[in-house]
Amino acid sequence: MSLKLTELEQPDFERLVLAEDSDAGLRALICVHSTALGPAAGGCRMWDYASDDEAVADVTRLARGMTYKNAMADLGLGGGKSVIIGDARRDKTPDLMRAFGRAVESLQGSYYTAEDVGISTEDMAFAAEETRYAVGLAGGDHGSGDPSPWTAEGVFRCLKVGAAHVFGSDDLTGRKVLVQGLGHVGMSLAEKLKDAGAHLIVTDINDAALEDASTRLGAEVIAPDQVFQQEMDIFAPCALGGALNAGTVPQLTARLVCGAANNQLSTPEMARVLQDRGITYLPDYVVNAGGIISAAGEIHRRGENYRRARLDGIAGRVQEMLQRADAEGRTTNEIANAMVDQMLDKANAA
Ligand code: NAD
Repeated sequence: MSLKLTELEQPDFERLVLAEDSDAGLRALICVHSTALGPAAGGCRMWDYASDDEAVADVTRLARGMTYKNAMADLGLGGGKSVIIGDARRDKTPDLMRAFGRAVESLQGSYYTAEDVGISTEDMAFAAEETRYAVGLAGGDHGSGDPSPWTAEGVFRCLKVGAAHVFGSDDLTGRKVLVQGLGHVGMSLAEKLKDAGAHLIVTDINDAALEDASTRLGAEVIAPDQVFQQEMDIFAPCALGGALNAGTVPQLTARLVCGAANNQLSTPEMARVLQDRGITYLPDYVVNAGGIISAAGEIHRRGENYRRARLDGIAGRVQEMLQRADAEGRTTNEIANAMVDQMLDKANAA
């Protein structure tokens, strides 16, 4: 069977396409939430979903999230996402990725794809054999490769804006900053914090990463389950989602939260709980946009200056968001979402 595309009805989304190629073993969903601000862009995730409904729920939630992230980063891009249904370790083959590339190509540039959970730069190179709309590639004139250093740089800049707002100075000397998760982004962020003179506290489930941060960066190491007993000024969640929940937020000693992890709040209401405790939360999708900024440079065929200007942009928007949150008594999340809704309304009305 060659590639078969089926349009699925999804209210409030521009397109949801089921792409199937049984020869290549492909079953994937490509979702375009909005192209109001430009072609949709967002990564491709490979996951062994328990059901198609679960895959649809994930891809639509993620695609909508990309509309908001891309808008806030001022990338001239809309929001989209794709998921390949299957076990990345067992089912992923070059042919499957090529078939996925053909599916992306068939959308004729209304969706750009890149790596996400379960998909590597090498996998994306197979997709790129079949489509012009795959980015996050290691090679080529504009290949952006690993986005993590850009994500870490964006988080660092926003964290400094947050520190200036909360503590009256962006000088991090001696500030206790706890980095949860020392992976691609967390370790790079920890290095920047160390250079800025922060008192680094780190945790991870990977002992080698902890050892490295302790010897190379002089970080204080704590056990993963000690995070919320720890005294700190700033909390930087850089591991998995859901770190801020009804069990953890009441114990959190930080006055500022700024980290790379996606979906840090277990529920949207946590933003209000944090605010009521006097803790300033910088919305994850705003501060961790460095990765998509890097990919956007590849899409628009722009260089380092473009990316740096966009990082400055997100730091500027964080500042505006903090001022408005104070003035209007709303959470930073509410303000960030309202800023994007305004941009979308303007673009849709034009
Ligand atoms: P990664 O997989 O390289 O690192 C995650 C780290 O968290 C690992 O070292 C892992 O051992 C650690 N970890 C897992 N569970 C933990 C726990 N319970 N306690 C402490 N540490 C734990 O991932 P990454 O690329 O560094 O991304 C980190 C987060 O940032 C993820 O949520 C990711 O979705 C998000 N993010 C990453 C990028 C990027 O450019 N890589 C962009 C935007 C958002």
